[in-house]
Amino acid sequence: MTEKAKKQIEEIYHQVIARNPGENEFHQAVKEVLDSLGPVLVKYPHYAEHKIIERICEPERQIIFRVPWEDDRGEIHINRGFRVEFNSALGPYKGGLRFHESVYLGVIKFLGFEQIFKNALTGLPIGGGKGGSDFNPKGKSDSEVMRFCQSFMTELSRHIGEKTDVPAGDIGVGSREIGYLFGQYKRMSNTYESGVLTGKGLAWGGSKVRKEATGYGAVYFVDEMLKARNDSFEGKTCVVSGSGNVAIYTIEKIHQLGGKVVALSDSGGVIYHEKGIDLDLVKQLKEVERRRIKDYCNYHKDAEYKPNGNVWEVPCQVAMPSATENELDGKDAETLVKNGCIAVGEGANMPTTPEGIKVFQEARIAYGPGKAANAGGVATSALEMQQNASRDSWSFSYTEERLHKIMINIHRDCLEAAQEFGASNDYVTGANIAGFKKVADAMIALGL
Ligand code: GLU
Repeated sequence: MTEKAKKQIEEIYHQVIARNPGENEFHQAVKEVLDSLGPVLVKYPHYAEHKIIERICEPERQIIFRVPWEDDRGEIHINRGFRVEFNSALGPYKGGLRFHESVYLGVIKFLGFEQIFKNALTGLPIGGGKGGSDFNPKGKSDSEVMRFCQSFMTELSRHIGEKTDVPAGDIGVGSREIGYLFGQYKRMSNTYESGVLTGKGLAWGGSKVRKEATGYGAVYFVDEMLKARNDSFEGKTCVVSGSGNVAIYTIEKIHQLGGKVVALSDSGGVIYHEKGIDLDLVKQLKEVERRRIKDYCNYHKDAEYKPNGNVWEVPCQVAMPSATENELDGKDAETLVKNGCIAVGEGANMPTTPEGIKVFQEARIAYGPGKAANAGGVATSALEMQQNASRDSWSFSYTEERLHKIMINIHRDCLEAAQEFGASNDYVTGANIAGFKKVADAMIALGL
C-alpha cells in the first residue's frame, strides 16, 4: 500500500469516529473493512475520486422512534426503536431487526454496515440495512411481545415496503415476532404485501430453508474452506457457541456432514457432551419450550454443564462462533489454536475481536469472517422475496441447492479477490474487497 492510500484511509477512519462519537461497535466494523481497502485505492484510484468509502460509511437514512407499550399488569413502558437504511445501491435495504437490551444506535450501525458487504457478496439484488430495539423479549409473555411488536410496527410501517426496505429477524426476533410484525403491517396497510418482511412462517409466505439458512450456510462456507485445504468435516470435533437459531442449524449441518459437535452455550454457561450434542433435545428445549440449556443435563447424565464457562476452552478442530459480537477475544483465539483448531466460521456478526482475528491470521488457520460465512441467512431471505414476488413456493431441496451454490460462489469470490491483492487464503481481505467492489461499482454507475 502507498503512503498516500494509507493516509487517505486513516483520515476517513478518523472522520467516522468524529462524526459518530461513542459508537464503538460501529467504529470496529468500519476499521475492519477500511484496513483491507488501501490496496484497492491504489489499484482503482477512481474509488477515491468518487469518495466512495466516505459515502459508504455514512448511512443514507437513520430513523429513531419511540415504542410505547403496556405490560400485562397495565404498566406502561417506553423503548427506543431504530432502523438504519444504510445503502441501497444494489437493491432495497435488507437486514434484520434485533431486540436485545444492548441495542443502541452504535450496534445497529455496525450491523447495518456489515450488512452492505454481506448482502453484496450474495450476488442478489439487496442493499444493506438493520434495525431493532432495546426491548428485551426474555421473560415477557406472548401478549406482551405481541403488543410491543404492534407498537414497533405502527411506527416502522411508514418506512418499509417490499421495494423499499425489507426487515427480517436477528437476535430476539424469530418467526413469532415476525408474525406479529407482519400482522400489524398487513392491518395498517390493508395489503397482503408478503415481500415486506422475510423469515415468515411457512404457512403465510415464508420460504423453506430460511430457518436453517444461516447455520447451514456457515457450515457450507467452512466446508469450502476445508475443501480448499483438501480436508472435510468428516470425523472433526466441533464447538458451536450460542444455542439460538443459528447455532441449532449449524450443529444440524455439521452432523449431516460427518462432524461431531461436543459443546454449545448460552449466556448462562456451557454444555459439554463428549458423545456429541443431542440436537433433538436442544430443539425441544429451545424452539418449543423456550428454556435454558442448563436443563440439557436433566436428560443426559453424561453431559456436563459449566455455569459461566468459556466454550472456547473446549478443544476442537472447528469452531463456529454463533452467539453475538466480540464473544471470542485474543486469549480465546490463542487457546483454540493451541488446542489444534484448524478452521473458524462465524455464524454470528463480528463475534471475533480484532485481537482474535490477528491470532487466527498469524496462525494461518482457515478463518471465515461473518460477512461471508453467515451470508446464507440473508441470501435465503432474498430467495424468500423472489418467491413472494412470483407468488410461488419452492421445495426444500431446490431452495437448499440454491443456498449451497450461493455459499460456494461467495467462497470463490472471496478467494479471487484476496488473490488479486496478493493476500491468498485471507478471507477477511477477500470478503471486504469483493463486497466493497460490487457496491462501489454500482454507486459510481448510479451517480452522486
Ligand atoms: N439478521 C441476519 C443477518 O445478520 C439476516 C438478515 C435478513 O435475513 O434480512 O444477516
